[in-house]
Amino acid sequence: MKIACVGGGPATLYLSILLKARDPRHEITVLERRLPGSTYGWGVTCWPDLLEELNQHDPASARAIAASSVSWSSGVAHLRGAMVTHQGDVGHAIGRHELLGILTDRAQSLGVQIEFGSHIVSATQLPEADLVVLGDGVHSQLRDHHAKAFGTRKSQGANKYIWLGTARVFTSFTFAFIQTEHGWIWCYAYGYGPHGSTFIVECSAETWAGLALDRLDEEQALGLMEEIFSDLLAGSPLVGRTDAGDRSQWQTFTTVTNTSWTHENLVLIGDAAHTTHYSIGAGTSLALRDAMSLARTLHEAEYADTPTALSNYTRERKKAILTSQSAARHSAHWYENLTRYTNMTPHQMFSLLGQRHSPLLPHLPPRLYFQLDQALGRLEAMRWLKQRVGSKLAAALQSAHRP
Ligand SMILES: Cc1cc2nc3c(=O)[nH]c(=O)nc-3n(C[C@H](O)[C@H](O)[C@H](O)COP(=O)(O)OP(=O)(O)OC[C@H]3O[C@@H](n4cnc5c(N)ncnc54)[C@H](O)[C@@H]3O)c2cc1C
Repeated sequence: MKIACVGGGPATLYLSILLKARDPRHEITVLERRLPGSTYGWGVTCWPDLLEELNQHDPASARAIAASSVSWSSGVAHLRGAMVTHQGDVGHAIGRHELLGILTDRAQSLGVQIEFGSHIVSATQLPEADLVVLGDGVHSQLRDHHAKAFGTRKSQGANKYIWLGTARVFTSFTFAFIQTEHGWIWCYAYGYGPHGSTFIVECSAETWAGLALDRLDEEQALGLMEEIFSDLLAGSPLVGRTDAGDRSQWQTFTTVTNTSWTHENLVLIGDAAHTTHYSIGAGTSLALRDAMSLARTLHEAEYADTPTALSNYTRERKKAILTSQSAARHSAHWYENLTRYTNMTPHQMFSLLGQRHSPLLPHLPPRLYFQLDQALGRLEAMRWLKQRVGSKLAAALQSAHRP
């Protein structure tokens, strides 16, 4: 097959790898607007099940990704001078530069043609292809050109956020919630390698304007955030995006959905098809899983019956992402309504932070939800004890009373 991919992000690079590894006769071109080695963003998280799946699909790139990833096994939250730690959340993170470097090298080694510096805004710029994969991210221009056919819908989150990096290496997934005279501002921070961490700062639009973040230039804004999060940063400066140009680095999150993922010989993949709020750390994993699904459905249709392959891909992935889309909606909503939770104890608040994907939480008073959750947790523990220990105890008692 002749395949043209618009955008060289994780979704299209991984798709090219899987297709080429299965059948080297495919002619695949990836058209990426950036130059090699340049990308936006810092580290991205992923979870142990993804690494296993990557290993099943392409062991060579999976080994390199695992070797460049770091792991954490606890979450830490700072609130009103207290620090709460939760053990047991195992996660991984990898620098976006490293991830794209690994996927680019692997794709090129398999014979995928990657044309950097190709900014595609019109179908006339595309090479002749049986299939055009639109993997150019949340702001996909060709998708927007056919927005009616795809049924593209976009909605903006209420909060402001900025994606920063810092040289301080956080070994736990770390949150800090700080109350200012203009309202709450908070960060999520996690290490992604030996040299740095992702540091995402978020606040309501009112707090953002109150702190003058809408008026300060980049240097002043970074200085203010370094001051606000000084305890956490311990002197490490914050670093902004180098590619933003004149655009503000502060954004509101765009949630994208499409009723149809295909139109003529175009198919959507990754963020171009769907986005999920960054606070659930799932977008890259979903993009890679889209690639796995599309590569498999094309292979199953023997690269001949493309419409069936595309419709199977769309059906499979739309169903698979429903849980993440729901979790992302509720997670974004939790942060947009942060003041519902800030008068709880740090332990209670962190506990509900971990439950922010729950559809029930927005409808119950937070303290009541917390108490119910604790009681149910205790009930579950009792049930478990009864099942595990109870049967052994009963057996031991029976044998003790046996004549
Ligand atoms: C603040 C923040 C934090 C995040 N943290 C995480 C996380 O921890 N874990 C996680 O899994 N996900 C995270 N994500 C989401 C993740 O970054 C995306 O879901 C993921 O990158 C989607 O991959 P993609 O290949 O679909 O698109 P992208 O990674 O966006 O790649 C698209 C590519 O297309 C190129 N492009 C765009 N337009 C054109 C054009 N017109 N012509 C040619 N090329 C073009 C771009 O340069 C880019 O290289 C985060 C997102 C944000 C905003």
